Amino acid sequence: MELQFLENIPPKTNNANSNATRLQRPTTVRKPTLKSSIPSSRSVLQERQNIEVTSSKPYSVKRTALPISRNVPIQGRSIKELAPQNHISAIPSIEPRQDQSETHLQTEIARLRTDEAKLKFERDKLEDKLKAFHDKATEREDTIRREKDQIINSLQNELHSTKDACHLKIVEFQREYNDALSEKIESERQRYQELLSQQQSHYQTQLETHRQQIEHEKQLEKAASEQKLLHEMELIKHEYERENQKLIFEVENSRSELEKIREESSRQLQEVVGELKRENLRLITELQEELKQKEHMYSQEKEAFLTQLQSQREQLNQNMTQISIQARELETTKMQLTDALANSHSHQTLEKSQQSTIYELQLLLRTAEEHKNIAEKERDIAKEKLFKEETVRRKLHNQLQELKGNIRVFCRVRPPLQSEQNNQPVAKITFPDKDMESQQLLVCGPASESAVGSVTTKVHPFAFDKVFPPSSSNEEVFDEVSELIQSALDGYNVCIFAYGQTGSGKTYTMSGNNGMIPKAVTKIFEASETLKERGWRYVITGEFLEIYNETMRDLLNSSEENKLEIRHDAKQQKTSIINITSVKLDSPSTVYSVLRQADSNRSVAATAANERSSRSHSVFILRITGENVETGEKSEGTLNLIDLAGSERLAHSQATGIRLKETQAINKSLSYLGDVICALGSEDKSHIPYRNSKLTYLLQYSLSGNSKTLMFVNVSPLEPHVNESLSSLRFATKVNNTKMKK
Ligand code: ADP
Ligand code: MG
Repeated sequence: MELQFLENIPPKTNNANSNATRLQRPTTVRKPTLKSSIPSSRSVLQERQNIEVTSSKPYSVKRTALPISRNVPIQGRSIKELAPQNHISAIPSIEPRQDQSETHLQTEIARLRTDEAKLKFERDKLEDKLKAFHDKATEREDTIRREKDQIINSLQNELHSTKDACHLKIVEFQREYNDALSEKIESERQRYQELLSQQQSHYQTQLETHRQQIEHEKQLEKAASEQKLLHEMELIKHEYERENQKLIFEVENSRSELEKIREESSRQLQEVVGELKRENLRLITELQEELKQKEHMYSQEKEAFLTQLQSQREQLNQNMTQISIQARELETTKMQLTDALANSHSHQTLEKSQQSTIYELQLLLRTAEEHKNIAEKERDIAKEKLFKEETVRRKLHNQLQELKGNIRVFCRVRPPLQSEQNNQPVAKITFPDKDMESQQLLVCGPASESAVGSVTTKVHPFAFDKVFPPSSSNEEVFDEVSELIQSALDGYNVCIFAYGQTGSGKTYTMSGNNGMIPKAVTKIFEASETLKERGWRYVITGEFLEIYNETMRDLLNSSEENKLEIRHDAKQQKTSIINITSVKLDSPSTVYSVLRQADSNRSVAATAANERSSRSHSVFILRITGENVETGEKSEGTLNLIDLAGSERLAHSQATGIRLKETQAINKSLSYLGDVICALGSEDKSHIPYRNSKLTYLLQYSLSGNSKTLMFVNVSPLEPHVNESLSSLRFATKVNNTKMKK
């Protein structure tokens, strides 16, 4: 019972298995203050020790008086049991002396009895004491138990309250901790998010730069290979040009030499003829003079002779009778007559010499004639050579054109207009190789915002056969085009298109002042004049039409009575338009009047349908037929100059009615034009979709075979138009990448 109680008292030590330890609070929990009401664990422990002493060694006070073997266990035995034992073992050894010893023994016994009584008394006293003590101990035990219960209760209460407080604290702590943690997590998350987005934007920028670098490198590589190719082509072109120049030079030289020879020989001939003529004249005059003189002399002599003869006859007649006497006189007369006869002989000789001189002169004339014939033959040979050279030149020119590519794309950026300069921002368009080949342009695209909010503008590089910056004039542009006009004169079909959004400068380039149409016509007339001396005679006719909503309209006839129809002659690969007005162009002035007429017809239509000119394709067709009167060669070339409808893409949703129909027609026909050009450039040319649109159907034979195509992509310099400009440039790039295959 005691031990059990003692064991229930929490020891002071920190035994890991004890209940106290199990209930031990966190260090932050307040310790209960029990000192005043409840005995402290230390006092409880002292109490326990006291009780231990009491219970385990109850007779320690009398140990000296009652010696007990230390080996005897006393714990758990009552005092009454122990007393006789102790008493017997405590009797001393007695000496054997009979009498004395008997009394002594009796005294001793009496004393012992007294002692015993005393001891008894003592024992009773002690027993009482023990009992009292025991009672006290029991009481004390009860008190202690109560106290213990109290302590336990209070401790348990305290423990419960502490536990609750603790729990609350824990909950609060947990909540606080959770709050703090989630706050921390949130801030960390935000920080990471920020870091992530920074990282992302960084990577994106890096990616973008990398991509741009790659693109730039690709572009550079492409440009380099193109440059190389172009350089090679340029070399070949130079070579050909040199050859051509050499040949032309040689031809020119031989021509001029022959011309000189011809001139010299004709001059010599003229001189000889002149001299001969002069000589002849002189001789004739001299002879005539001489003849006159001789005639005069002769007539004088004849007269004198006749007079003499008359007088002699008279004398004879007078002296008839005196015949015999006058026989001598007759003899003299006879002699005189003989002399006269001799004189008449010399006149005959003179006539003969005159005739021989004429004969000589005639011989000289014949030699001169022969010389002239030889010179003319030489001239004919030179001419023949010249014609042959002309054929070679044509061939070389065409080879050169083919080397340059049968499909070419020129890009032209117009300058900002006076009216635009003040209120419209200008796009960033640069020309990196302006002072060299002039084949590249860089367009800064519209600004775009990335997911992380950074604003970027992309630079789009483009390359074409030729790029004309805003400062270029129509004359400079035409210099590059004129070779194709020569091809049309040489019998090839040529198409020159102007592609671009409305207001990008198509009409300015094609039919403006010194535009391609007037310049081409002037060049054709000039060249046809030059080629006249090489035997070529040209007939030039012009047709002008527009294609609006897939319907053709004659621009040189405003009546609109006759429907235009396209006819193809597949055998001759020729196209004609039924019912169209065809005007013979024999001077540049007729061309200008034709252009004016077409313009006025178009403006009339413009009032009916708004901005008609930009919603329709206009096609100016020059048919050039040539014949060489010397060689019999013939050529038939067509030069098509096309001002296309504005390429701006209107969203279909924005257009209704007529506008929707127009838009659809334009969008379709422009994309079909691109399709046809691409199909012409592809390996498989079994089907080229010419029939998809009126424009491609009309130009079928002018786009295929040996034809030459040039497309101008006109670009506006304004910032708001940059998206349209990019889309035009992309279309043009697609065309530029097409290589015509035979
Ligand atoms: P489109 O035919 O493409 O609609 P236009 O040829 O009518 O465009 O040009 C629009 C305007 O810009 C016109 O006023 C024209 O005179 C002007 N323009 C176009 N190109 C040039 C240029 N290279 N130099 C000067 N002005 C130009
Ligand atoms: Mg126009």
